[in-house]
Amino acid sequence: MANGERRDYYEVLEVHRNASEIEIKKAYRKLAIKYHPDKNPGDKEAEEMFKEVSEAYEILSDSQKRAQYDQFGHAGLGGGGGFNASGFGFGAGTPFGDIFGDIFGDIFGGGRQRGRGQRGEDLLYNLEISFEEAAFGVESKIEVPYNKRCGACNGSGAKAGTEPKVCPTCRGAGQVRFQQGYFSVSRTCNHCGGEGRIIETPCAVCRGTGSVKDTKTMSVKIPKGVETGNRLKLSGEGGQGTRGGANGDLYVSINVKPHPIFTRDNNDVICEVPISFVQASLGTEIQVPTLEGKVSLKVPEGCQSGKVFRLRDKGIPVLQGYGRGDQLVIIKVETPVHLNKKQRELLEEFARIGGEEIHPLKKNFLDKVVDLFS
Ligand SMILES: [Zn+2]
Ligand SMILES: [Zn+2]
Repeated sequence: MANGERRDYYEVLEVHRNASEIEIKKAYRKLAIKYHPDKNPGDKEAEEMFKEVSEAYEILSDSQKRAQYDQFGHAGLGGGGGFNASGFGFGAGTPFGDIFGDIFGDIFGGGRQRGRGQRGEDLLYNLEISFEEAAFGVESKIEVPYNKRCGACNGSGAKAGTEPKVCPTCRGAGQVRFQQGYFSVSRTCNHCGGEGRIIETPCAVCRGTGSVKDTKTMSVKIPKGVETGNRLKLSGEGGQGTRGGANGDLYVSINVKPHPIFTRDNNDVICEVPISFVQASLGTEIQVPTLEGKVSLKVPEGCQSGKVFRLRDKGIPVLQGYGRGDQLVIIKVETPVHLNKKQRELLEEFARIGGEEIHPLKKNFLDKVVDLFS
């Protein structure tokens, strides 16, 4: 699929939005077998479908990523692409490893070597920051729950002082080969579940899994210019691998809180400023809030509601680039309400003296209406 026409993940997997985990796994299995490159050699379309299906499964099989996707769509998963700074990167890393281990291990006889240690899980952390923090960057402390290598067994899963035994059925390969017609086929060893080893006395601390739940406090440097939907990738900061497996990655997903007076359009900051009709008529100088304090702005006489003033370089710094956006000040002329007797009299007096020429728009409009019906 070309960029920009990404299909809905649920559509890709042909499941309902409220499909259960099992339904999603089933749907993926079916489609992955159908489009698997081994079954469709040289078929580019099948290859694309296979990638699309795998990507959809990667997201929808992970409850956190799925929630993110449900809420924000593709944008919620980042994929902003190509940004790397001080060890972070934006974009959708696609760790297919575990999916393939899981699903293809027993369908295709697994080209993957198992029992070599398990990669740690990838983690997604949702970080909420303020509008100003998104604009200028921030260093944020976050507490991340993760799976830590069990210290008691050093991640082996076997009770301290014991060693896992080599599986006698597969002799440690995790796979057994057998003859099917002319072919020699291999499948995951049932005895050890593909691990290649058997733990006779599991570690009591981690119940043989090799990892325990823990929380770590980390400092994350959010660069200036980020916006909702951006993701930072902290390589190796996810769950710890067991039995020599690599650590997973930590993704920090940015969510920017709404600001009471500013909104954002790319790198421009937009601010609506109400002024009175007297100020608008006579002209005035107003104080306008910006991200870095107030600046004064001259409003010329006869300023109409909706007039936009551009304050150069008062917007948001460009993410991973140079320069910054502008601030757009939109003038809103406010009609006065709750007039007292005196004010009402003065306005009535004003209306009596005022000629047509002080409301050119209104005059122009009425002239056209007359033309229309004459
Ligand atoms: Zn085995
Ligand atoms: Zn342990």
